[in-house]
Amino acid sequence: MNIAHLLLGSAQEFRDLPALARGTTPYLTYRDLWRKVSVMSTHLTGRFGLKRGDRVAFAMTNCVEAIEVMYAVWHAGLCAVPMNAKLHAREFAFILENSGARICFVTPDLAETIAEAAKEAPDLKEIVDVTTRSYTFMEVGDPSPVVSTEPTDPAWLFYTSGTTGRPKGATLTHRNLLAMTLNYYADADRPPPGGSIVHAAPISHGSGLWNFPMVGRGSVQVFPESGKYEVPETVELMNRWPECSIFLAPTMVKRLIEHGSVADLQPQALRLITYGGAPMYVADLKRALDLLGNKLMQLYGQGESPMTITHLSREYHWDRQHPRWEQRLASAGRADSCMEVRVVDEEGRQLPVGEVGEIICKGDPVMAGYWNNPEATARSLRDGWLWTGDVGAFDEEGLLTLKDRSKDMIISGGSNIYPREIEDVLNLHPAVAECSVVGRPHPEWGEEVVAFVVKRGTASLAPGELDQLCLDNIARFKRPKDYKFVEALPKNNYGKILKTELRKLL
Ligand code: AMP
Repeated sequence: MNIAHLLLGSAQEFRDLPALARGTTPYLTYRDLWRKVSVMSTHLTGRFGLKRGDRVAFAMTNCVEAIEVMYAVWHAGLCAVPMNAKLHAREFAFILENSGARICFVTPDLAETIAEAAKEAPDLKEIVDVTTRSYTFMEVGDPSPVVSTEPTDPAWLFYTSGTTGRPKGATLTHRNLLAMTLNYYADADRPPPGGSIVHAAPISHGSGLWNFPMVGRGSVQVFPESGKYEVPETVELMNRWPECSIFLAPTMVKRLIEHGSVADLQPQALRLITYGGAPMYVADLKRALDLLGNKLMQLYGQGESPMTITHLSREYHWDRQHPRWEQRLASAGRADSCMEVRVVDEEGRQLPVGEVGEIICKGDPVMAGYWNNPEATARSLRDGWLWTGDVGAFDEEGLLTLKDRSKDMIISGGSNIYPREIEDVLNLHPAVAECSVVGRPHPEWGEEVVAFVVKRGTASLAPGELDQLCLDNIARFKRPKDYKFVEALPKNNYGKILKTELRKLL
């Protein structure tokens, strides 16, 4: 089993459909992409001397070449190590060293940084800039047949975003990625041949995983020419390419619906927005549904179980008449078809409906372990269950509501307080653009609740108003004891709020 077969199948079935596009311009058809990948694969094993299982790293801003090389890597039985383009040289150095990558493909903007990082990565023999002749030369030569790999062979080292310390390389096998893809067809969507995906988020992470279900169905992968997420450009591309799917982090959905150019989005253009990776606040979600219609679904997953743990379907988003509509929107939905999901106590005992505990899951998409990190693997994988580090509770409908990362939970006066619940309330205030709630050490209570708030524009906002909002909506003891107004919230390269940094500020 080799995940590259997804591309081979589409090259046979959807030969002349576009596979890749730069902005509004088609770049390669499925047949041409397969041919190119097969020739590049020959170079990887021949000229570069790579052997099955060797790691190949990527430091590239989103571009079509990244998909070409990734498939060449899988075609040749190698393992891809995509790195976020915005990492620091020292983070690149860590991942290059930890993964033992032999080659690193780069876009020119990152060539210098990677050359610097490479000094600490003794296994790295070659850096290939995809705009140079060294790369274009890889198109020339004979194709080779796809290498047959075992389902357990590593295909993608997915380095976690490292919100707490060093990133860890979740080892995703060919089987993991295939199970994830089939699960997408079962629970999320079956994109039509000739459909499209716009890669607005980094393909080293969230959006890149979407490539598999799209390639398997003959959809075109569209790369914005800006290389980033610009709302007007994204809207233009969604209008240009048919049946468009897109993965957006919740903050990106928010930017979309708050931008004037969303009015230019043609009603038929958009097929599906999947959002996930961080909490989406109910107030934002309702606004998105009002503006975009029945086009939203949610996925809850993590690098260790990519795209797959639970999902909240389009139907549940749209069924406004349902008496539990709001509770449904506040949840992350039900367990995926290929997953067993439980909420457990510290000893791993399953908790009854309504009780909050750690979320664990089991299924074919769950990683094989962390690369080169047996201690972290032993902590996260126990008896075949992945301990996610997320805290949540099931309800009687089988819907999982996420509370927080276990380490973000606040314990005040012996009570557990989940920041997300308070954030949901603060977000109801029209003058709150963004907020994040953390715990501050307190001599008597253990911790007390503090809210960091970013105001919308020049709106005036007094702590008393927010206090009242909390009093109207949640238990007294949960309301923040202090409001800190800030210009912006610290975020990592994936747009996730860094609560560790906020705690340091306290
Ligand atoms: P990463 O491995 O970087 O993709 O981060 C995964 C983490 O993001 C999960 O463990 C959750 O804490 C969070 N996350 C992912 N999806 C969701 C979601 N739908 N709602 C809330 N948090 C999420």
